[in-house]
Amino acid sequence: MQTPAPVEYERAISLEGAISSLQGRGAGARIIAGGHSLIPMMKLRLATPELLIDINDLDELSYIREHRGPGEGDGEQPHEVRIGALTRHVELLQSELLAQRMPVFRDAEELIADPPVRNRGTIGGSLCQADAAEDLSAVCTALNATVAIRGPEGQRLIPIGEFYLGPFMTAVGEAEILTEVRIPLRPGAGSAHEKVERRAGDFAIAAVSVAVWIDGGTIVDAGIGLSALGPTTLSATHAQEVLRGNPPSEELFAEAGRMASGDCSPLADSRGPVDYKRHLAAVLTTRALRRATARALKQET
Ligand SMILES: Cc1cc2nc3c(=O)[nH]c(=O)nc-3n(C[C@H](O)[C@H](O)[C@H](O)COP(=O)(O)OP(=O)(O)OC[C@H]3O[C@@H](n4cnc5c(N)ncnc54)[C@H](O)[C@@H]3O)c2cc1C
Repeated sequence: MQTPAPVEYERAISLEGAISSLQGRGAGARIIAGGHSLIPMMKLRLATPELLIDINDLDELSYIREHRGPGEGDGEQPHEVRIGALTRHVELLQSELLAQRMPVFRDAEELIADPPVRNRGTIGGSLCQADAAEDLSAVCTALNATVAIRGPEGQRLIPIGEFYLGPFMTAVGEAEILTEVRIPLRPGAGSAHEKVERRAGDFAIAAVSVAVWIDGGTIVDAGIGLSALGPTTLSATHAQEVLRGNPPSEELFAEAGRMASGDCSPLADSRGPVDYKRHLAAVLTTRALRRATARALKQET
């Protein structure tokens, strides 16, 4: 099937209007952003929405900025990078702020799809699609992001670790919209993304995002996001644990790689068997740790 089923179309002129259009329509109404995941699914009739709400005119959802200020309600003073949900892949790729503070984004974007997809596809659409092989979900998992979700009752913030509920399923409710991704800025940070794909621009056979935070020669914290290595994006929790409180070394990276190989739960498919994917989890985690650490130490000196 290459033609979508008939569908109503509405172009939102405000965030509140988009939320109100979603209300009462249940799963029949869907937000459309870049359309690079949703339209192919509609053509294959894997998705058959009754109403598409196009948010491409909501410029207020398109930005990458550093934020320092009072938190919402909790009295903290967060220092973060905030990324609007409608920010395109190409903007993430070209952002000097991200390249400098969290280069894992540029690493990943250089390997995502091709220019036509990167010109339209958005970070919000990527996260909400919740494809296990999607790269930015691993990036946001490694960086310990928080996502802002807006609905009829207002805004709620949830940690990325609670965002993915299963394959193609997220915590975004039927009348809700993902509006922003927030990533904490902490000193001593380094990050990197490693991916193996069958051909340039393809989804990953396996990909790993890593972030480390180093203080006085010790890894004080680490985040590892695994892509295409389970039914949804995973955190390599045991690998993260083994890194914390230790000085970086090749032996430590190899040990973390072995732990990541155990932390994942890949499925055999046309991209490869389980053993191969577990092997990739170890190798890519080790490589990404090496690069992330070198970047962190370079900033420290
Ligand atoms: C040929 C090709 C190659 C690709 N290769 C890769 C790759 O290598 N790596 C990779 O990571 N990705 C890849 N992609 C996917 C690409 O990154 C898409 O852009 C992305 O998955 C979806 O973004 P979108 O803005 O197009 O979302 P859409 O297609 O517009 O939406 C996707 C889903 O998210 C929902 N949604 C969108 N925005 C919001 C929001 N703000 N709030 C709530 N729900 C929302 C929609 O309702 C829909 O369910 C590829 C895509 C193509 C077509």
